[in-house]
Order: sequence, then structure tokens, then C-alpha cells
Amino acid sequence: MSADSNPSNAAAPVPTDFIRDIVAQDVAAARFPKIVTRFPPEPNGYLHLGHAKSICLNFGIARENNGRCNLRFDDTNPAKEEVEYVESIQTDVRWLIDGWADHCLGFKAPGAAPAAGTVNGLPDFHAAAAPAGTAGAEPFYASDYFPQLYEYALTLIRKGHAYVCDLSPAETEEYRGSPDKPGRNSPFRDRSVAENLDLFTRMRAGEFPDGKRTLRAKIDMTSPNIWLRDPLLYRIRHIAHHHTGDAWCIYPLYDYAHCLSDYLEGVTHSICTVEFEVHRPLYDWILEHLDLPRPRPHQYEFAKLNLSYMIFSKRRLIQLVQENFVQGWDDPRLPTIAGARRRGIPARALRNFAYHVGVTKFDGLTDIAAFEHTLREELNGISHRRLAVLRPIKIVLTNIAEGEVLTCDATNNPQDENPTTRPLALTREVFIESEDFAEVPPPKYFRLKPGGEVRLKYACIIKCDEVVKDAAGQVTELRCTADLTTRAGGPNVDRKVKGTIHWVSATQSLDAEVRLYDRLFTVAEPGAEEDFKKFINPHSLEVVTAKVESSLATATPAERYQFERTGYFTVDSKDSAPGKLVFNRTISLKDTWAKK
Ligand code: ATP
Ligand code: MG
Repeated sequence: MSADSNPSNAAAPVPTDFIRDIVAQDVAAARFPKIVTRFPPEPNGYLHLGHAKSICLNFGIARENNGRCNLRFDDTNPAKEEVEYVESIQTDVRWLIDGWADHCLGFKAPGAAPAAGTVNGLPDFHAAAAPAGTAGAEPFYASDYFPQLYEYALTLIRKGHAYVCDLSPAETEEYRGSPDKPGRNSPFRDRSVAENLDLFTRMRAGEFPDGKRTLRAKIDMTSPNIWLRDPLLYRIRHIAHHHTGDAWCIYPLYDYAHCLSDYLEGVTHSICTVEFEVHRPLYDWILEHLDLPRPRPHQYEFAKLNLSYMIFSKRRLIQLVQENFVQGWDDPRLPTIAGARRRGIPARALRNFAYHVGVTKFDGLTDIAAFEHTLREELNGISHRRLAVLRPIKIVLTNIAEGEVLTCDATNNPQDENPTTRPLALTREVFIESEDFAEVPPPKYFRLKPGGEVRLKYACIIKCDEVVKDAAGQVTELRCTADLTTRAGGPNVDRKVKGTIHWVSATQSLDAEVRLYDRLFTVAEPGAEEDFKKFINPHSLEVVTAKVESSLATATPAERYQFERTGYFTVDSKDSAPGKLVFNRTISLKDTWAKK
């Protein structure tokens, strides 16, 4: 993709899909003063690449329409939620939208007081577009709306649209029926408004134990849509909440809290994944039966992202972390955003990928190769070229004196409009990749072999004169002559040999730990079976001590490097330190799985 068609660039063409078409129609009809979307994660795990797609869609629409996108924690189930997740989600979202859509991020006004004015006819609770890191800028929490949601519940009861039910969870399940079997009315369905108000107030006051009573919407127990069979709105849970503490012992359910949170924030387009399509009638029912003034939010559904060789289920990701199959949520092998960042995947590559996979209604499996292609394309443009030898074998250039240093110019990035260079030291002893030498070469082997010639990139042609071995027959070094007339500026610079290999000086280089990551699973759909852990790739991480050129001493995690002929690498943000370099392989240069 050329720079111009890059969706991350300001002047880029706007992507199109069925949701954006709907938004465009609403904009054309001036249906809303402002387009407002939201990204509503439940803080019960780390975000993954599937969430990245949703973030790119919601923030993308806000960005393209001069609108706003709220980060809202859908935190209605305190049993599974934690502050660690709240914090990681904020970090990940900000990282993904930084410099692209951060100006659309809606924040709660300090103190949660309405800011001046309204948004889409509602009091504006936003401090509009506070820059990331602004003091007092708070994301939204569904739990901040608990008092308002409680008031709405009282309204539904007063209007005869909700009742307190004493059926146990098992009985409730039994009464609900199944898709092909209508449900039965609860014996508590016809309680008087007064009794319902009394019981619900007492539920809230903490008079009843967990599971004793629920608040249910009074809709239709025979509806073909099971979600309309008197769905639960509130349940009793005597449990502390990470955001509201002990203030509540009744908690609203997702379907009840979500539409109303959208409404309270002035959300116009509430975008979720297709499994919620069947919940949409309930979303609308609640808003309608509260007689909320327009504009009301509307729900739209798109297909989840599913990538081959990956697992996106939070429940399963938690197992991988807790059972130590990986080293934490930011393990570079995980499909988490934190893992991707640590692995060196640029936020822009994720955004470009979200753009390329597009938005549809149809569930499918996206080939990981498509993601890797986008990633390589992005890295190719931005990476500094460097020389590094992962599995070194020593070469002695017998015609270069000990202590002599010949300087070669190496190109930093040939993709740049005006590529710059850096000096590389060519010395008597250098390292090459052990796989670039074969004592008994296979046919058409163009790298180094006894008596053969090869070019050391940016330096000169060398010839292998002698193979030195130890008592066990292991090759310890190769004695070669350098044809210095083939160096840049030399008379024979144009002399051709078939192979060019990378190398580093043995005396002017550094040791670095290099972590070679591969796919975490060996099969395309590891999630297809419950026992997914049996598909874990035993070779998903290999650690080598590499020799890298000295200029990498100042490498930082903010930069991307291409180790020539090897792959794309980044400095590990956690374990690397001055004097102890650690690199992560983001991805190899070529798709090594395509051959398998
Ligand atoms: P769970 O509900 O099981 O905890 P979840 O993946 O749905 O998991 P949420 O925190 O509810 O997690 O997700 C936040 C938002 O991200 C939702 O709007 C959801 O639809 C969207 N989302 C989740 N997974 C994907 C995916 N694979 N592709 C695209 N969007 C996704
Ligand atoms: Mg969810």
C-alpha cells in the first residue's frame, strides 16, 4: 500500500462498509448534532487483536465524522472485574489511537458534573477530547450510572413494566423454556406496583441474600426471541465492586445497563458484534418503555475478528497466563494488544490491518498470513537496517592485520527517499551466520563453501581458503582472504559473485539476547477443541545469543530494526538494559509457514 492510501494518514480516503454507510446517511440527514460511538470493554481481561478491530471501527467513525468515541468500562459484574484490567485497557486503547484518533476520545468531566451544554439533547458529561494524560480526565464507567439506572428501574416498575421475581436461578431457567418451547409466566409476575416497589427498594437496601430475588422486565414469556422472555434486569450480589466499592448489593445486567449507558452518554451508534443481534429488540424495548426522548442510540452489529493460529477467548487466554504457558499478559506470543506492543508490532500496523479486513456481518476465519503481510509492509517502511548474526561462526580474514579497521558504509533504510548511511567496521575477525557456510554444499548453494566466494554485504568479496576444526571435528573457524579491491570505491567493486551474506565484526560488535518468537499454536483453529492447550507450539520461543553491530548499543524500544536477511526486531521494553541488550523478533522476513 502506498503512503497515500494508508488509512492512518490524515489525507487518507475514508474506508467504507455497511456501518459507515448508515452513519453517512445519518450525517446527511442531520439526524444527530454529533456522531458519538463508544468502545465498551468489560474489565475482565486484557484487550486482544479482536478488540483492536472494534476500537479502530468505533474511533475511526468518530474520527471521520468529527465525532467522539467514549471509552466506557462495562463494569456490571464485579465478580470477574479487576483494577489491573481497567488500567491495562486504558493503556492499550491510548496506544492504539495515539496520533490518529486520540482527539476523539471522550472523557468524563472532572467530578462527573455535566460540562456546559448538551450533546445530542442530553446533558454533556464529557470534557470534550481531553488530550491523553490530562489530569482529571477519567474514562466512563457503566457503574457511574448505577444511581440513574436504579431510578430508571423504579420508573419501569411504576409503569408496570418490571416486577420482582422470587424464582430461584434454576427455576427461572426452567420457566424460560427453550427456542422451540415457549416459556411460562412466573407466579410472581402479577405482583402489584406497590409490592414491587417495596421489594426492589429492600433488595437495594441489602435485606435479601444473593440469588433470593431478581428484578425482571415484564415482556412476553412466549416470544420466539428468548431474550424477550421477561429478562433479568437486576440481581443481588453482596460483593465489593472495583469502582463503586460497597455502595451497591444489586447489580444491573448487561442488556439493561448497556442501552441506558449508551443513552446517557448521547451515543448515536452503538456498535457491537453479531452475537448481540438477538439482544437488539431488548435494547430497543428498554429505551422505548422508559419513554426516553429522542435521539435514542441504535445498535448495529458486525462480525468478530477471528485469526488463524490464535485464540481470542478471554477465558482461554486467562488459562494460558495463569497456567504459565506464557510469561504474563504481555508475552509477545499472545494476541493481546500488550503482547503485540511488546513484540514490536506498530499501532499503525494494527490499524491498517483493521482497515484491510473490513467490516461485515459474516463470521469467518481470517488467515494470519494477511495480518503478517500488513505487518511486514509497515515494518519495511520504518525499520532501520542493521547487521546481526544470530548463530555465529568465526571467519579470520588472513590478509587484514590484527587491529586494522576498515570502514564500510551501510545503508540505514533503502525505503527512505534520501537514504542515510552509517559506518561499519570490517576487521580481521568477523562472524557470519553458521547456516551461511556449508562444508558439503547442496547443489546451487551460493553462500560460503570451501574454495568458494561470497560477498560480505557493504564490505567486499571473501574466499574460503581453509576450514579449521577441533578434535571433535567441529568447525571452529574459517580462514578466508578478503578481496579488498571489491570494496566500495575499489577498482573491482562491480565484480559479481552469486551470494551476498550479512556479517559483523568480532571485535566491534555486542552480544545480545535475541528472542525468536513463532506462532503459539501449531494448528489453524486451536480454539475448535476444548482441549486447545494440546496444540501449543513447543518451539514458540527460542532464545539465542547473537552478535550485533555496535551501533545497536543505543537501540530503544521505540525504534524498529530489520536485521538484514533475518527479520524485524525491537528492543524488549521490560528486560533490556544498558549493557544487556534484549531483542524480540517481531516477525521473520518471509513467511516460513507457507512452505510447511
Ligand atoms: P467477554 O464478553 O467474553 O468478556 P468480549 O471479547 O466480548 O468478551 P468485551 O470486553 O465485552 O469482551 O468486548 C468489548 C468490545 O469489543 C465489545 O463491543 C465486543 O463486541 C468487541 N469485541 C470483542 N471481541 C471481538 C472480536 N474478536 N472482534 C471484534 N470485536 C470484538
Ligand atoms: Mg462482551
